[in-house]
Amino acid sequence: MGNRVSDVIIIGGGIIGMLTARELHHAGVEVLVIERGPLGGESSWAGGGIISPLYPWRYSQSVNQLAEISKQIYPGLAKQLQHESGVDCELITSGLLYTDVEEQQVAESWAKEWSVELHTVTDAEHIHQIEPRVNDTIDCGLWLPDIMQIRNPKLVKAMKGSFDTLGIRYLEQTPVTELNIDAGVIRGIKTAAESFNTDKVIIAGGAWSAGFIKYAKNVAVEPVKGQMIMFKGEPGLIRRMVLSSGHYIIPRKDGRVLAGSTLERTGFNKTITDDANVELRRAAVEIIPALADMEIERQWAGLRPGTEQGIPYICRHPEIDGLYINAGHYRNGVVLGAASANLMAEMVLGLSLSLDPAPYALDAVH
Ligand SMILES: Cc1cc2nc3c(=O)[nH]c(=O)nc-3n(C[C@H](O)[C@H](O)[C@H](O)COP(=O)(O)OP(=O)(O)OC[C@H]3O[C@@H](n4cnc5c(N)ncnc54)[C@H](O)[C@@H]3O)c2cc1C
Repeated sequence: MGNRVSDVIIIGGGIIGMLTARELHHAGVEVLVIERGPLGGESSWAGGGIISPLYPWRYSQSVNQLAEISKQIYPGLAKQLQHESGVDCELITSGLLYTDVEEQQVAESWAKEWSVELHTVTDAEHIHQIEPRVNDTIDCGLWLPDIMQIRNPKLVKAMKGSFDTLGIRYLEQTPVTELNIDAGVIRGIKTAAESFNTDKVIIAGGAWSAGFIKYAKNVAVEPVKGQMIMFKGEPGLIRRMVLSSGHYIIPRKDGRVLAGSTLERTGFNKTITDDANVELRRAAVEIIPALADMEIERQWAGLRPGTEQGIPYICRHPEIDGLYINAGHYRNGVVLGAASANLMAEMVLGLSLSLDPAPYALDAVH
């Protein structure tokens, strides 16, 4: 079959690939996203959609600056996506209540540094005013009222709808099998059926990215399985996201409540397990006892693109001209994604960069 041509080819149609495609499209670039399965069918579908790292004060500046930029972008982006696709991504400011307060001081200084509203709550009555359904034994916490959430399956559906409206090209069910590199310069990619010519390729393959960036030494993106369960709740019964000792609950607009998540290094394996079901349910009921009476409607797993410190690769390949990487967002691909896409687009377009790229380079610590 003959070669087909695009300005930029993006390998992987998860949230990272799709957000990057939108950025480039808006700059007038002809983009083609090539996705092995359905668009947004992997980690980007499976996540919780909390628009914040779980304990942001435990992360580096480089993660926090992407998160803070993305937080500014999401309200406008969600509106734009709804306009373009007719899909409401259910972006809501439900706030996040932390019931572990061992890190109170470090959390307070982080909040001050990043101008995030944070309240230290020291009495049970106030905690129960914030979220009346939390366990009666909880009598102190940290309350971040401005933290948003977005509903992942709706976000990826809206993104796909926006591609159709805007005319952003994509191929689904089409694995990229090879990069075509000649004398250190990218010439295109191959799928089982076709080759595509281009002088710019972006790897946004999530947990599968390492296979394509094997050309570089010390690249480490590995799959980290996360299982979740979903309770069939009633709208308004639980209003706030709550995080306790690494376990969280996320109430959606329609009353469903997500409880997550496991962290499992078991390779490219998305099997759901009874052990995880029991553990996630136990932790969720401990946070919100009323969940004990609710049916678990669904359980699923996704593969996060894991990096050691959760710092993504957003960079140009140092040895292969025209090859770029936007991958390795680990637990925070939704919250970091919008800012990452912005920075990636600036790199591809040769614009001046709005952030120091050093922490996201291939040879940096990730
Ligand atoms: C349980 C769970 C909870 C989470 N909660 C949150 C949260 O609350 N907030 C948050 O910000 N993040 C969260 N995350 C993390 C977030 O979902 C990920 O960081 C993000 O989805 C990564 O996006 P991605 O596009 O890099 O990866 P993916 O969504 O995995 O997309 C990569 C795509 O590349 C495709 N691909 C791979 N190889 C090829 C190939 N050879 N050819 C073509 N296509 C290919 C794959 O099919 C896939 O669709 C969570 C993740 C999980 C699993």
